[in-house]
This record gives sequence, C-alpha cells and structure tokens, in this order.
Amino acid sequence: MKSKNETGPLPGYFGEFGGRYVAEVLRGPLEELDAALGLLDRDMEFWKLLGRIREEYIGRPTPLLFAENSTRALGGARLFIKLEGLANTGAHKVNNAIGQALLAQRMGKSRIIAETGAGQHGLATAAICAKLGLECTIYMGEVDIARQRPNVFMMELFGARVVPVTSGSRTLKDAVNEALRDWAASSADTHYIIGSALGPSPYPEMVHRFQSVVGKETESQLHDRGLEPHVLVACVGGGSNAIGFFSPWLERDVPRLVGVEAGGRGVGRGDHAARMNGLGVPGIVQGYKSLFLLDGDGQVQETHSVSAGLDYPGIGPQLAALGTAGRVEFARATDRQALEAVSFFARHEGVVFALESAHGGYQAMELARTLSPDQVVVVNMSGRGDKDLFITARELTPGPWRRFLLDEAAAIPAPAEAEE
Ligand SMILES: *Cc1c(COP(=O)(O)O)cnc(C)c1O
Repeated sequence: MKSKNETGPLPGYFGEFGGRYVAEVLRGPLEELDAALGLLDRDMEFWKLLGRIREEYIGRPTPLLFAENSTRALGGARLFIKLEGLANTGAHKVNNAIGQALLAQRMGKSRIIAETGAGQHGLATAAICAKLGLECTIYMGEVDIARQRPNVFMMELFGARVVPVTSGSRTLKDAVNEALRDWAASSADTHYIIGSALGPSPYPEMVHRFQSVVGKETESQLHDRGLEPHVLVACVGGGSNAIGFFSPWLERDVPRLVGVEAGGRGVGRGDHAARMNGLGVPGIVQGYKSLFLLDGDGQVQETHSVSAGLDYPGIGPQLAALGTAGRVEFARATDRQALEAVSFFARHEGVVFALESAHGGYQAMELARTLSPDQVVVVNMSGRGDKDLFITARELTPGPWRRFLLDEAAAIPAPAEAEE
C-alpha cells in the first residue's frame, strides 16, 4: 500500500478529493478502523489466512484469457480478458467483502452490515458471512428488492437478513444512509462493509488495497507471457474493480488506463451515470468529497444505466483525482453498446460478460480495432453475466423470454396455497 503522503497532502485525501465528512457518532468507529488497518502490515497471520481463502474459496488466481477469436475479428491489437467474473459469487466484489470480513473478525466484531443496490455486494457479503460464521444484515432499497428478486433469494439462502429501505428514492443511496444509521448505533459489535472504493476515509484506501489483488495477478500473468500492456480497460461504478485492476501501474506513465462509465441512453440529465469529463460536479455526499451528479440545488440526481452496478451518482475519490490529473482516461459506453459487447464476447469467446463489465468490453473492442497487432489491450471482466439473465434475455430475445416467464408464473401455486 502506498503511504498516504504519496496520494495527497492530508491523510485520506487524493488531491482535493476524499476525506472524512461524518457526524460525530461515526468518528469513533472510523478511528477504530484506522487503528485496525494500521496493524495489518505486520499481521502475517491475516495475510496468510486471506491468501488461503482467496485460493480455496474465491478460486484465485482468476484466469487471464487471450481472446484470440476476438482479436482476429477486430483486426488490430491483441486482446486479453481478465476473467474476474469467475470468482465465487460471480464478481470482484468478493475480494473486498472477504478482506473486510476477516478484518472485522480481527477487531472482535460478530456482526456485519452492508448496503446493496443490484445485490452483487450484498450477495458476496452474505456468502462470506456464511463461510466465516458472522451474523449478516443487508440494507437494500425497496425498489431494488422488487427488481432484483434472484439476488434477494440468494442472500437469504446464505442466511442473511435483507432489510427493505423505504426512505428517499428507495434505492442504493438510501440503503447507504440506513446502513450508516445502523452502524452509528451498533459499532461496538458490528462492522460496516462498504461495497466500493468510496465513502469516508479509510474506506477508499482499504477497498483499493483488497481489490489490488486483481491488478497484481494481471501484472504477473502478463509478465509470465512476456507481454507489456499498452492499455488497460475497466468499467467504473464506484470504481473498486478499476482501481484494483489499475493499481500496479498508477504511479507509472504507462500503460494507458481507461475507465468506462455508464453512458445509458444519452447525455441528458437522468439518462446516464457518467461523472467524469465534465458531467459531474464536486460535492460532499455520504461522508466523502468527490465528483457527483447533482442538480442545481445540490441534490443527488437520478441516474440511468442498463447495468445496476454502474448507476451510483458518485465516483470514488481516488479515481476522481486520477481522472482530473489525467493519469486515468474516461470514456462512456451506452446501454446498447454494452449489450452489443455481451453478444460479441459470448459469440467469439464463449464468455458472458456482466452488463457492467461489458461497458469496459465495448471500449476494449474499439481500442483493439484501432491499435496495432504488436500492442496489447487488457480488459477486466469484473463480473460474469449469469446474474443479468432477466435483463439480457428480455432485451435480446423478448418474445421467447416473455413466454417462458408467463409459463413459469402459471406453474407457481397462488400465494394463498403456497407455504408462506
Ligand atoms: C458492482 C459492480 C461493478 C461496479 O462497481 P465498481 O466498484 O466500480 O467496481 C462493476 N462490475 C460488476 C460485475 C459489479 O458487480
């Protein structure tokens, strides 16, 4: 981990972004977390245990695939895919959830809380709590619960309590507020696992650290093949998969690092979730300073993306700083382009990208087309697309999918007859 001085003059800051803007009651728990993190460097037992769980539970290292057919079809640079979506529970989120859950055990906490939007972070957290024997409560907006039923089912299968959040717009940001409220009252025995590289310090740096395993593996997998990357591409929601993937290269001038945000259905207000390239404005929301999509009154805007994991209105402070400084470039992919990338890689590689990851996938296709054959493009497939079946099947084959769902619904006993 870099010393904090290298990223900004003040602890917890990345340039002008980051910091810790919280109510008095949350200072204590955050300072306790600072202290626990401070002990980790010398805690060899912790890293040994984490290494073992990564190997035998997550399935690390995840493969680096040479996308040979895609490379041929695109006709330019050699394209590689980091298959992070092959991690147990289907995405990179588990790397952070496990790191923080083990840390919580070190701190003597018996209960874990987390927020979730689409459910991927909740799923990873619920799974690792089942594995480690920790009590688990997941806050999830009522709207998200209604549209992400399969993930709610899975979280409950793992033994987690999923608490519907009915305040505000009843989505992710409201779930974060509810989790913070719980934590303010429960921190004596409870740790709050934030799902991306954002929130008050030390969350962004801690999440970066646990996700850096993705970049370190990629670096050594490229090295083993004698390859130097020319450009790395990752999708950016809050920014945890991107910052972890880019991590080994952040302090160097090369390779190019490209983050891809959700272009949704256009650049109009509420139509996308892109905060970089002038679309977001500086603000302080949910405990940290960064770039956010805010309206004229400073209220958080509604966003849209076909991928539930990319529609958060804020970006992690370190990526905001790296983007502002020009080390990380930002691009956008639209809903349609992401779906196109899902189809392309399924056809050419037999690999199904998560819709989030497919935003990076689309940009990687564009780059591979235009760069030369001696150059190497690597894209992080942060998650696999099984979880998106209800969206992709509806978009790509609406007729048959509709008939399937109607038949399924007809086969379920009416609620009165069911056991509920
Ligand atoms: C949650 C999620 C993302 C977005 O979160 P980041 O913190 O930006 O990585 C991207 N891909 C997948 C598969 C996700 O589940």
